[in-house]
Amino acid sequence: MNIHEYQAKEILKEYGAPISDGVIISNVSEIKDKIKKLNSKKYVLKAQIHAGGRGKAGGVKLVNSISELEVEAGKMMGKILVTHQTGSEGKEVKKLYVEEASQISKEFYLSCLIDRETSKIAFISSTKGGMDIEKVASDTPDKIVTNKINFKDEGPNEKEVENIISIFKFNDQQKIVAKKLIKSLYKILVEKDASLIEINPLIITKDDKIICLDAKMNFDDNAIFRRPEILKLRDLNEEEPAEIEASKHDLAYIKLNGSIGCMVNGAGLAMATMDIIKLYGQEPANFLDVGGGATKEKVAAAFKLILSDKNVKGILINIFGGIMRCDVLAQGVVEAAKQISLSVPLVVRLAGTNFKEGNEILDKSNLKILSASDLNDAAKKIVEAIN
Ligand code: ADP
Ligand code: MG
Repeated sequence: MNIHEYQAKEILKEYGAPISDGVIISNVSEIKDKIKKLNSKKYVLKAQIHAGGRGKAGGVKLVNSISELEVEAGKMMGKILVTHQTGSEGKEVKKLYVEEASQISKEFYLSCLIDRETSKIAFISSTKGGMDIEKVASDTPDKIVTNKINFKDEGPNEKEVENIISIFKFNDQQKIVAKKLIKSLYKILVEKDASLIEINPLIITKDDKIICLDAKMNFDDNAIFRRPEILKLRDLNEEEPAEIEASKHDLAYIKLNGSIGCMVNGAGLAMATMDIIKLYGQEPANFLDVGGGATKEKVAAAFKLILSDKNVKGILINIFGGIMRCDVLAQGVVEAAKQISLSVPLVVRLAGTNFKEGNEILDKSNLKILSASDLNDAAKKIVEAIN
């Protein structure tokens, strides 16, 4: 799960990290009143969307007065912001963060994440932070330093903290702040089940202060159940509606951009199904694993979800019944198809537990179904059908 910059900064603040003062607004008319809390003459207006790259896309704007702030906020609010992380459809700006403007002397990069390969916690630091960090990573990877530390309750020790910040060449005063920041990031990662915390840029101001000027946090979905305070920060506006619906039914669904909707049981089989669709020259419209012991209601919900995607031109159901029974699947499909008229070709391949019963149910329904003998045949048939 992702959260907004302003929410991430609230968490950072709670853990004692240095951030600027700011206020969040969801309507331009709130500015006059809320801005009184800030002690500044210059502000930075920041679009709150779950994507980075805002600076280069017009989603971060320096303004010199309250009247200019109101004008710019009016332009930014409701705008579809397209950044290199949003995809071409962009994201609508529904909230703006107004922050005190900092006078920047240097921009660094600092992040903390779980390194799955080594089961360690990795801190990544670079003196070349800011909006071109991707370019730094590809052109001058030696400017990016990774320190991996073993997980321990007490957090990183003095030596480890020093290693992480050494490239920044901080003065003594800054070192005190930076060391505390490293410990705070570690604590947030562990105590909130974050999988990534990224501060880019971490700045040194003209008067030598350290500030976390941007913050991105990512949380482990599988641990959210024990972090209700994080779940409260979820912004459904930022999520794919179909994926929200899927999570209500406990379905593993990821929307993709192709035209063949897939319903499969088991993540491995789902991946193989997507691969073989590509092999025959088409693209999958989604990843969908209905899981092991799915009920017919769950199957029906999954089928409706696939059909709610306007890009879907055909559906491929590929089930290898183990715990999942093919007859239950067939009942779910028939039930969903009764509720929504099915206007696209449907190819079904059933194998394993109760496949005969499943095929009988499908045969008896008046649905127009192309049945397939194996995965290869199924992929070929659905691609031919939509072509
Ligand atoms: P993004 O990463 O989405 O582009 P950032 O929050 O990193 O957004 O902002 C982009 C750039 O805007 C920063 O690298 C920094 O130069 C500038 N910036 C952001 N916030 C402030 C601020 N409060 N004061 C001054 N400059 C800022
Ligand atoms: Mg940034």
